[in-house]
Amino acid sequence: MANGMYEIISKKRDGLELEREEIAFVISGYVKGDIPDYQVAAWLMAIYIRGLNDRELADLTRIMLDSGDRIALDGVPDRKIDKHSTGGVGDKISFVVAPLLAACGVRVPMLSGRGLGHTGGTLDKLEAIPGMNVFLKQEQFQKVLAETGMVICGQTENIVPADKKLYALRDATATVSCIPLIASSIMSKKLALGSDGIVLDVKTGSGAFMKAEPDSIRLCRTMVAIGEKTGRPCLGIISNMDRPLGRAVGNSLEIIESIEALKGRGPEDVMQVTYALGWCMLRAAGENVTYAQAQDRFQAAIASGQALEVFRDFITAQEGDARVCDDYSLLPASPLQEEFLARESGYIERIDCFEVGMAAIDTGAGRRRKEDAVAHGAGFVFHANVGDQVQKGQRLLTIHSDRPEQLPAVRERLGAAIRFSGKPLAAPKMVLHLIDKNGVIPWPY
Ligand code: URA
Repeated sequence: MANGMYEIISKKRDGLELEREEIAFVISGYVKGDIPDYQVAAWLMAIYIRGLNDRELADLTRIMLDSGDRIALDGVPDRKIDKHSTGGVGDKISFVVAPLLAACGVRVPMLSGRGLGHTGGTLDKLEAIPGMNVFLKQEQFQKVLAETGMVICGQTENIVPADKKLYALRDATATVSCIPLIASSIMSKKLALGSDGIVLDVKTGSGAFMKAEPDSIRLCRTMVAIGEKTGRPCLGIISNMDRPLGRAVGNSLEIIESIEALKGRGPEDVMQVTYALGWCMLRAAGENVTYAQAQDRFQAAIASGQALEVFRDFITAQEGDARVCDDYSLLPASPLQEEFLARESGYIERIDCFEVGMAAIDTGAGRRRKEDAVAHGAGFVFHANVGDQVQKGQRLLTIHSDRPEQLPAVRERLGAAIRFSGKPLAAPKMVLHLIDKNGVIPWPY
């Protein structure tokens, strides 16, 4: 390869295809510190504008994956299926779907993250459980998965180090919202974990990272194609993030709602998304089951208490206090609780989830800066959601907060986020599309 960084940037700027060696040169040079930020930033912007073809994207993902360690799971018996969500508001599906799948004989390993912007983070939610350890060594990760059927922990420093450097640079150079760059970033981390298949929950709507449905579909298709190309069965759904998922938003509050779901008292929308993803996970594990059969198995795992038992074992195996499953008072709670009332009568037409997510940060449930502490008890419990009819003065949600000085700002954001209509609305669909290697179909159930 004769080209240096200058020629590689020019090639992409002019819309030409990059060779595998050229992409490898950029990534390895950047990780080693041989290529400066300003040149990689220009290269990223050229990709942002010109895109990558399928071959370039597959090469970039593979090269990023090879920049760091992998977590092998060969020694763990049975099929192992990973689930990834692009993040949303009130998204606690991992805590419900993983025990259900484990109870049905499919193991679920997950590497998760902290809250990003307005979205909550799985690790922050788990840390609401007293004692919970979300930093496991590779052997512990395998042991918890083998013993309990599920494991969730944070990524170690050396999983895809190229992504850590590239993501920070993208964040500072307006090159985050680029489908090939997002897809290679997410999938390189997914592929670093040695699962037998990957299921993606790509959110769409006001609380999603990708707000427009066609963009969410394109992102999901791109990631499914990468997974399949590397030999991993991969499928995904597009799910609705135009309303908070479930009733609870915030760390302890979402753990309680997840445990309630495992006891058979989950909100309808949470269960719809859980069953859809669970069915995809069974399919990725090679099980030839219909959606109805999968749902029956999940409901049986809840009714028998087996799924809750898996969740208890998982908490214990990661050093948490599993008594929280029976006694919610062991979870952190906020000192201040205040009702937020409907300002008019009518049907709830819209709840802007981005604003709800930002308001949740103001309660203390999330971080404005990386170094901020999280108040695990803070957040919201909604008593009504999109489509519901309410009367002026009726309680819409309860605000849980540690920060009385923030309450006026929280109320103002919530007021602007919730819109009413005089006309009844059709119940919104929670799952919009199913995407697999054959393409996109509208969700049929
Ligand atoms: N999440 C990731 O891991 N990477 C991206 O690029 C965007 C969201």
